[in-house]
Amino acid sequence: MSSTHHTPSTEELNAAIVAHAPFGVVVLDGDGHPLHVNEQAHKLGLATDGHLVPRYADDLAGIASMARHEQRTLNGSVKVRRGGRKLAVAITATCLRNDDNQDTWPVVLYLSDASETKRMESARRDFVANVSHELKTPVGALALLSEALLETTDDPSSVTYFGQKINKEALRMGNMINELISLSKLQGAASLPDMAEVSVPEIIAAAIARNQLSADNANIILIGYARHAGAPFVHGDRQLLVTALANLISNGINYSPATSTVTTSYTEHDHDDALGGEPSVRIHVTDHGIGIAGKHQARVFERFFRVDKARSRSTGGTGLGLAIVKHVAANHAGRVTVESELGKGSTFTLILPKNSPDATPQGPAQ
Ligand code: ADP
Repeated sequence: MSSTHHTPSTEELNAAIVAHAPFGVVVLDGDGHPLHVNEQAHKLGLATDGHLVPRYADDLAGIASMARHEQRTLNGSVKVRRGGRKLAVAITATCLRNDDNQDTWPVVLYLSDASETKRMESARRDFVANVSHELKTPVGALALLSEALLETTDDPSSVTYFGQKINKEALRMGNMINELISLSKLQGAASLPDMAEVSVPEIIAAAIARNQLSADNANIILIGYARHAGAPFVHGDRQLLVTALANLISNGINYSPATSTVTTSYTEHDHDDALGGEPSVRIHVTDHGIGIAGKHQARVFERFFRVDKARSRSTGGTGLGLAIVKHVAANHAGRVTVESELGKGSTFTLILPKNSPDATPQGPAQ
């Protein structure tokens, strides 16, 4: 038996390269008729059966004719509706000179789905606009307060009054800037740098300790665990997990009346549906405060979302605390959920994958 190896011809090779290109390819002649349309261009919703979809044909021919006229490469875009979704398709049009008659030069259009890039750009623009707005407000307040202070320098009680307000606003701004920095680190992080075995009762005790002073000032009782480095364990960045829990406890304090309690506890689950059936540790922070109406519950994890801006501001809130918790949970392959009833109180639950027993260090940590 003899087998012959078929070496592809240049034409076959070129055709295969175009067919398998990771982007759409459309070649248009001088009249705007398609000479070639590859599979990806069909998938992007610009062509059917080798023909351009009429709704987009004019736009594509327009870009092609500009590229032909200017004898160069041009960038453009076209909005495509495909299966109820709107795609932003980016186009790079390149004029292919093949003879001296400019009108007949074919133009090749390279097409790619730029929807995700566009979405991210617009999210980034929104974020920058939000940050600028959120920082402008306290800066404006500082300017007004310092003017007021300068006008009343002969009255020591006014100086104290405005001085304290200035101090509070400045601290809040500092806080917001720190939180923005942690958020951007969390968002940029591909993997967490300081992963280790982390004892759940230990991080609960640490998060409570961080909030003890403000709880005492607000006359609120924090309930949790005595500090010990025992089981259960999760695999994570201790610092970030303590920050996330401390944010939840701090909210419990800020949104509860004096003399109420904020309780932090945990439960262990062998099959947690929230984590696709994996074993988990759920850490619950329960308060008996103002609660959150159903319609707001999903939104509280958004950056800068606050049910009541004035109340949040008066407690030094920035609207970033829960966004940080959500990112910490996500970076640990976990989740955060809320159950709440208006006027009754809230329970926030941080769900984390539990460390399997064989990966758990035996005996107390050193
Ligand atoms: P903030 O700095 O404003 O507290 P967060 O991101 O921590 O920002 O929370 C966002 C908003 O969610 C708060 O402004 C508040 O309206 C609501 N919220 C958060 N935690 C609680 C809670 N335990 N009880 C009632 N409302 C809460």
